[in-house]
Amino acid sequence: MKAEIMGIGTELLMGELNDTNAGWIATRLPPLGITLQWVTLVGDDLGQLTHAFQQGLKRSDIIFTTGGLGPTQDDLTREAVAATLGETPTVQEDMVEELRQYFRNRGQDMPSHNTKQAWLIPSAKFIPNRNGTAPGWWAERDGKHIIIMPGPPVEMQAIFREQVEPGLRELVTEEVTITRNVKTMGLGEAAVDEIMSEYFGHENPYLGIYSKADGIHLRVIARAADEATARRMIVPVEQAVHDRLGEYVWGYDDETPEQAVAQVLQSRGKTLAAMEYCTGGFLTNAITDVNEAQRHFRGSIVAFGAESLAAAGVPPALMDNHGAVSQETANAMASAALVQLDADYGIGVTGAPGPGELDGRPMGLCYLAIARATNAGPQVIKELELRVPPRRITIKRRISNQALIELRKLVEAGE
Ligand code: AMP
Ligand code: MG
Repeated sequence: MKAEIMGIGTELLMGELNDTNAGWIATRLPPLGITLQWVTLVGDDLGQLTHAFQQGLKRSDIIFTTGGLGPTQDDLTREAVAATLGETPTVQEDMVEELRQYFRNRGQDMPSHNTKQAWLIPSAKFIPNRNGTAPGWWAERDGKHIIIMPGPPVEMQAIFREQVEPGLRELVTEEVTITRNVKTMGLGEAAVDEIMSEYFGHENPYLGIYSKADGIHLRVIARAADEATARRMIVPVEQAVHDRLGEYVWGYDDETPEQAVAQVLQSRGKTLAAMEYCTGGFLTNAITDVNEAQRHFRGSIVAFGAESLAAAGVPPALMDNHGAVSQETANAMASAALVQLDADYGIGVTGAPGPGELDGRPMGLCYLAIARATNAGPQVIKELELRVPPRRITIKRRISNQALIELRKLVEAGE
């Protein structure tokens, strides 16, 4: 089946809000056998919305929309669907009662404007929303489907997973597409390309290679009549990736470096501390994005410049000799973090924050160290000099990812 997605809201057209909903929905359609053909952004204007729905019904079997389901006058998605299908919405008393209950649970009275969220047209069914007041609609007419969902990503995603996906599975009988993403770090794109060369250029399963901030990804894509068959087709290619690149593989699918580290440290009951300079807290932010990070993370010190590094326990004489941006300083940072925060492992990252050089070290040249606790004190088990493009966000992202992936490798190997 052919589908399209409409992001609805004038703020999307003004550049004030980025459409993240379409990308999220797009990733969920191939496994359902649905081919996405269009993504459009439409403002809160009844004429333009109605026009967009009319166009959509001509070219697509399913139209997904997000946004425009609020209680206010500028939210017009329901009105536009009703106008497109030539139907008149009526207030559904059951839904009004549910909305009243929603507000009562929060100690509030329902504003009269919210009655609009209890409207329904004859060709549609409600898609209940347990995270907000706006239910979606699933309208069907002449084999075409219009599925309208609320804009807030948390509400939309829950609705999609719990209610829309099961409905679509029953509806669609076409080939499904399954992907498996294997993430590597340590080899460049050209090297990975060469090692896997004989697997490229095939249609099904297809192998793609992508360079990302957390390394080189190999994506296997298989199409088949059903999910189980597609998954079986992926197995030999994934196995080949392992046979040839196993030591560089650090994660799969949506897994992030910080999740991979959390998993390996928590399963071994080990802890981590960090001291960072050029990453400015980015590494710490990533580590603490993981649920229950307190189980493996003891904390970190974000220093900025030689003075704060000295205050955090890096010997000033060492920095005088080697510079604040040096392998020696990274090593001392990793060791100091581990000792002061009483962790099993310490990460130290240093680099010129830019713009320009620091003590003759260009922006983008960074040093990474990983230390572990031993009876004889901290011992450095990894030293790494890295050069990345001299853009702040690139440096922060790449160095943080690499530090986490290197740590994961060491812990996994029992170091
Ligand atoms: P609305 O239903 O149009 O009032 O949208 C409510 C809220 O949902 C907006 O203020 C945004 O925070 C969010 N939202 C709406 N559309 C999108 C979208 N396409 N991508 C991400 N967030 C969105
Ligand atoms: Mg809106």
